[in-house]
Amino acid sequence: MDDITELQNKWSTPTNVVLISHRNPDGDALGSCLALYHFLQSHGHNCTPIVPSEYPSVFSYLPGIERVGVYDNNRAELKSKIKAAELIFCLDFNSLDRIDPLASMIQSSKAYKVVVDHHLDPEPFADWYFSDTAASSTCELVFRLIERISGVQDITLDMATCLFTGILTDTGSFKYATNPEVYRIASELKGIGVDDYSINDYIFNSWTHRQMQILGHSLRDRMEIIPELSCGIIALTQEDYRTYQIGRGDTEGLVNYILMIRGMKVAAFIRHMTSGEIRLSLRSKGDISVQALAREHFGGGGHKNAAGGSSSESLSETIEKFKKVVKFYLA
Ligand code: 5GP
Ligand code: MN
Repeated sequence: MDDITELQNKWSTPTNVVLISHRNPDGDALGSCLALYHFLQSHGHNCTPIVPSEYPSVFSYLPGIERVGVYDNNRAELKSKIKAAELIFCLDFNSLDRIDPLASMIQSSKAYKVVVDHHLDPEPFADWYFSDTAASSTCELVFRLIERISGVQDITLDMATCLFTGILTDTGSFKYATNPEVYRIASELKGIGVDDYSINDYIFNSWTHRQMQILGHSLRDRMEIIPELSCGIIALTQEDYRTYQIGRGDTEGLVNYILMIRGMKVAAFIRHMTSGEIRLSLRSKGDISVQALAREHFGGGGHKNAAGGSSSESLSETIEKFKKVVKFYLA
């Protein structure tokens, strides 16, 4: 964490604040943005939370979600909010390509920029960094920041609900990327009154029949297991996207099923979306770094055990390339 007094000075003077998180926002992106939104708003700031693209409807229970501006849907107004900002928080991302098409506006803005994030390899575009790759989630870091500057007594139930959401989703329900702080913070949040049962129910018991069929199809007809490489691939074609009308969020968590098979250490979900784009979601166990794989071969990044990237080749060429390079990352 950079010297906190510099941030405290900005923090204690009410101003125009923009809180930004990444494209295709997840629970941690939305939770961290909204928790800090509630906190700063109650301390007199004029805050605007912004995400580049639409968020999954499962998160509609998050307090304040209706205040989140989706840049794809409201460019002119949100552009002027960014122009007027004197303080910008960048939450749950550390490379500007994650907030396309807002990147150039943030880069050229004269506002004081703060990054709160837990991804590897931060880019040097901000003034103040709270970057900790050992943290489970950005929500964990937002909790620690507020605790340090103001104290836990300033965390309201609305904020706690947002923070618990990000911790829950980024740890896969406390299964990975945990540390002693995560459990301490979860305990504090429960003490504040978080309804963890309902949050779990909203997020995880919200499948549609069609989503279940996409899962069935993916596991039965689109999964390839390569035991000698300890890896598995689920590949969805553009035709699958059309047939099942697959939308954003319908394939969330799909890649994790591969790692449920005994002996699997690397999992890849490779899809050719209707937009024409080919995206990869990669997961690994232990010391195998899919972050390095994504960065070195698919122009992406993320965390050691959860990363993503893209490809400009065809689906079958991308699958072949993945199979060829993965062997160099097996620890
Ligand atoms: P997912 O597979 O769930 O989309 O992403 C897994 C992790 O990798 C997330 O932490 C996400 O931030 C990161 N990630 C996904 N795609 C990209 C990408 O294209 N570039 C970078 N730098 N990180 C990515
Ligand atoms: Mn995160």
